Amino acid sequence: AITIYSMSKWFGTFRVLDGIDLTVREGERIVVCGPSGSGKSTMIRCINGLEPFNEGRVVVNGIDLTSKARILNSVRRNVGMVFQQFNLFPHLTVLENCTLAPRWVHKVSEREAERMALHYLEKVRIPEQADKYPRQLSGGQQQRVAIARSLCVKPRIMLFDEPTSSLDPEMVKEVLDTMADLAQDGMTIVCVTHEMGFARRIADRMVFMDRGRIVEEAPPSDFFSAPRHLRTQQFLEQIL
Ligand code: ATP
Ligand code: MG
Repeated sequence: AITIYSMSKWFGTFRVLDGIDLTVREGERIVVCGPSGSGKSTMIRCINGLEPFNEGRVVVNGIDLTSKARILNSVRRNVGMVFQQFNLFPHLTVLENCTLAPRWVHKVSEREAERMALHYLEKVRIPEQADKYPRQLSGGQQQRVAIARSLCVKPRIMLFDEPTSSLDPEMVKEVLDTMADLAQDGMTIVCVTHEMGFARRIADRMVFMDRGRIVEEAPPSDFFSAPRHLRTQQFLEQIL
């Protein structure tokens, strides 16, 4: 679970996040959308401890991120993150990409790490690519490896930041389907995306951000059919 209490963050004099309050329960699926520059990525990065914030509190699986920095490792162990760019290690095979963190950070045996990696590569439906290098894969396949790699440390929460926005259109569906499978399994998910069909399909709650604030939060049925705020209406008109 994630609880954010009136979190604010500045870049210099620019207030990028302005009093964010958000609660994500275990097993809940949240889709975050909003205009470019509204602070979506920054908020996601604060949840994962990748960015410090200036005010408020963020509690992830009972761990308060406002306290000492060295607890960040235990937060990241519980939180998987998938970015727009796949960030795979180019010089390692798919299998090695997946076993790296379990073996060297979590001290899992090589055999066990490989067993888990193959399990999750099957889950994302590319077990046959295990011995290839990232450059030998399509964008959609690389993103599915990135998802499998995150799953290998058995996170309780998965954060996605526009995971399909750098993919060719024909590869978007396979990645969205993989994420829908995770949702089906009960994973807690916070996903920044403008794939509104996907959002309708998996989201328990939509969160709309504008200028560093959460302007509107609603179940997808209400959010899409009757957005309450003018900014949300304008945004949806532009993208739907
Ligand atoms: P997009 O939809 O384009 O990904 P976003 O909602 O994810 O946008 P952020 O990346 O969180 O937006 O950025 C929010 C604002 O903070 C932007 O105005 C951006 O220019 C600014 N910003 C982001 N990172 C930094 C940084 N390291 N230093 C200064 N300003 C930053
Ligand atoms: Mg962003």
